[in-house]
Amino acid sequence: MAAELDVSSLAIITYPHPTLRYVAKPVRRVDAELKKIAEKMLELMYEHHGVGLAATQVDLPLRIFVMNSTGQRGEGTEQVIINPVVSRPRSNEEAEEGCLSLPNIHGNVIRAKTIHLNAFDLSGKEIDVDVSGFEARVIQHETDHLDGTLFIDRIKEGAAAELAPELDAMVTDFRSRQRTKAMVEDEILIERLGVWEQRYC
Ligand SMILES: [Zn+2]
Repeated sequence: MAAELDVSSLAIITYPHPTLRYVAKPVRRVDAELKKIAEKMLELMYEHHGVGLAATQVDLPLRIFVMNSTGQRGEGTEQVIINPVVSRPRSNEEAEEGCLSLPNIHGNVIRAKTIHLNAFDLSGKEIDVDVSGFEARVIQHETDHLDGTLFIDRIKEGAAAELAPELDAMVTDFRSRQRTKAMVEDEILIERLGVWEQRYC
C-alpha cells in the first residue's frame, strides 16, 4: 500500500523543511500503526533530549504530539496528545525555549502561564485539564508546531535578528542536502502528506 510506512525510519526533520510549516489535520481514527508512530516519536524525543515532539517534526501531517516535561523515560508523565485545543490563556511568562527542529538555537518566548487543554489520548479518552508552568509552555510550543508555527516566529524582533545568521546557515545547509538527497518538491510533499490525511483524518 502506498501509505505503508516503516515506522522505524521516522526521523526528526529540521528547519527549514517545508513540513514544519504545514498545518496538521485533526486525527479521526487511531490504529495500531498510529500507536507505533507515537511510541517512535517518544523514542526520538528521549534520544534527542527533548521534552516534546510534534508529528510535523517527523514529517507527518497529523495533529498529535508527545511530551514528558522531565525529558526522562521512566520519570514524570509521558503523554500522547491528539487533536489539542488550547484555550483560556491566563497571565504571561517569558522563558527561553529551544526546539529539536532548530538544533543549537535558543530564544526567549512569552507564553501564557496557565492554559486549558482539551484533547484525546491514544485510547480515545478525553483530556480536559488546566495546565500551568513548564508543562503549559511545552503544550503551547507543540500545539504551535501543529499550526506550522515555530518558536522563532514568537521571539522579539531584536533577538530574532541576532539569530538570522544561524538560520540562514541552516537554509543553506538544507538546500545543499536537498541537492544530494531526495528533493522536497512542493507537489511531492503535498501528495505524500495527502496520503496520510486520507488515512487518519
Ligand atoms: Zn519545537
